[in-house]
Amino acid sequence: MYDMIKINQIKTVNDFNFKDKIAIVRVDFNVPINHFSHKIIDDTRIQYSIPTIQKIISDHGKIVLISHLGRPKGKHCKRDSLKIIVPLLSKILQIPIKFSEDCIGENVKKNVFELKNKEILLLENLRFYKEEEEGNKNFAFKLASLGNIYVNEAFSVSHRSHASISVIPKFFGNKKCIGLLMKKEIQCLEKILGKGRKPITILLGGAKISSKINIIEHIIHFADHILIGGGMAYPFIKMQGGNIGKSMIEKDQNEKTKKILKNILNKCKKKKNLFFPKDVVIADSFNNHANKKIVSIHSIPNGWMGLDIAPNSIKYFCDIINQSNTIFWNGPVGVFEFSNFSLGTRSIAKAIVNATKKGAFSLIGGGDTIASLKMEKCEKKISYLSTGGGAMLESLKNETLTGIKAIIS
Ligand code: AMP
Repeated sequence: MYDMIKINQIKTVNDFNFKDKIAIVRVDFNVPINHFSHKIIDDTRIQYSIPTIQKIISDHGKIVLISHLGRPKGKHCKRDSLKIIVPLLSKILQIPIKFSEDCIGENVKKNVFELKNKEILLLENLRFYKEEEEGNKNFAFKLASLGNIYVNEAFSVSHRSHASISVIPKFFGNKKCIGLLMKKEIQCLEKILGKGRKPITILLGGAKISSKINIIEHIIHFADHILIGGGMAYPFIKMQGGNIGKSMIEKDQNEKTKKILKNILNKCKKKKNLFFPKDVVIADSFNNHANKKIVSIHSIPNGWMGLDIAPNSIKYFCDIINQSNTIFWNGPVGVFEFSNFSLGTRSIAKAIVNATKKGAFSLIGGGDTIASLKMEKCEKKISYLSTGGGAMLESLKNETLTGIKAIIS
């Protein structure tokens, strides 16, 4: 049913010998940074790319690492320089890492030319050029001309039609592949799409309904339970005629979005696989110390807003999770950053850990969702933590990611 590409159809770094070759490796070093202390807060993405880098080094290849960091919007800015990665990467790999102050141009060519086998050169932030996000062919060509083999190890941006993801591979013929992290991400998605052990439960929360609504339309067909929490729930409740007070509704919800919501509600009426919270914790302002009380999600008084799921909803959702064999979670079910409204999200995290202990396969993605697991110190008790929230969600739509298509075409 699903068009997701099978992992054994895609070449990985293990299909190449990199000896004397220059590998252009697109990594995702877009790590969270504390700009006051100038420190990397979480190095997971760097750590996850290490096996691929080590494979190329052990082959005696040369590596040119390319990545983005932050949102510099096409302008060079010191704050988003990738130079900050150099000491940490060097420490992890126990070798010096060379750095190029730009990602294209004569100096970069010279730096690449001087690379010896087993050496690594990290190029400056790709997004210092607007051409990266525009998917510019000329920019991609300049980057592609730096190496012999292209490796995509940036799952988290592989749903984007950016130059370094979907255009560069066009210049490499059959000399292109994915990295080991990317392989693992795809394998885990395969466990959900099509191959997932039933019952399959998909929990979607968070705030941005616009980014998740099309996904619901697709998962309706194979998920046994779709649990909707957080800010995602309120537009549905409003459409069903409930009173949601001043609960979050994403701005500029257009007619198209409303039509999709209606369509989802209709389809799920037949399949009976869409579940909403029953009771919610409401607040009189968006504040951790706001006055709070518990009411039905359908009758939130004017001037109040739902900021978390309440005990009955927690039990309702956790019971479903407990009976599931495959669980996918993206998006907190409340404003978990406020300790007084974090119980729902933390309870969900614990329920998924328990189900995993009993043998369920759990896949969790998205920065906020993983942060909430870390709050409960249970991030290591999940089957797989995805490095890409957006890419993971996009994969749930019956589609092969553009970055993967570029490797197999
Ligand atoms: P997303 O990026 O769409 O996954 O959204 C994550 C954000 O959704 C987090 O910062 C949460 O605080 C927020 N969120 C979750 N539930 C609610 C809610 N009921 N009202 C407002 N924001 C929420």
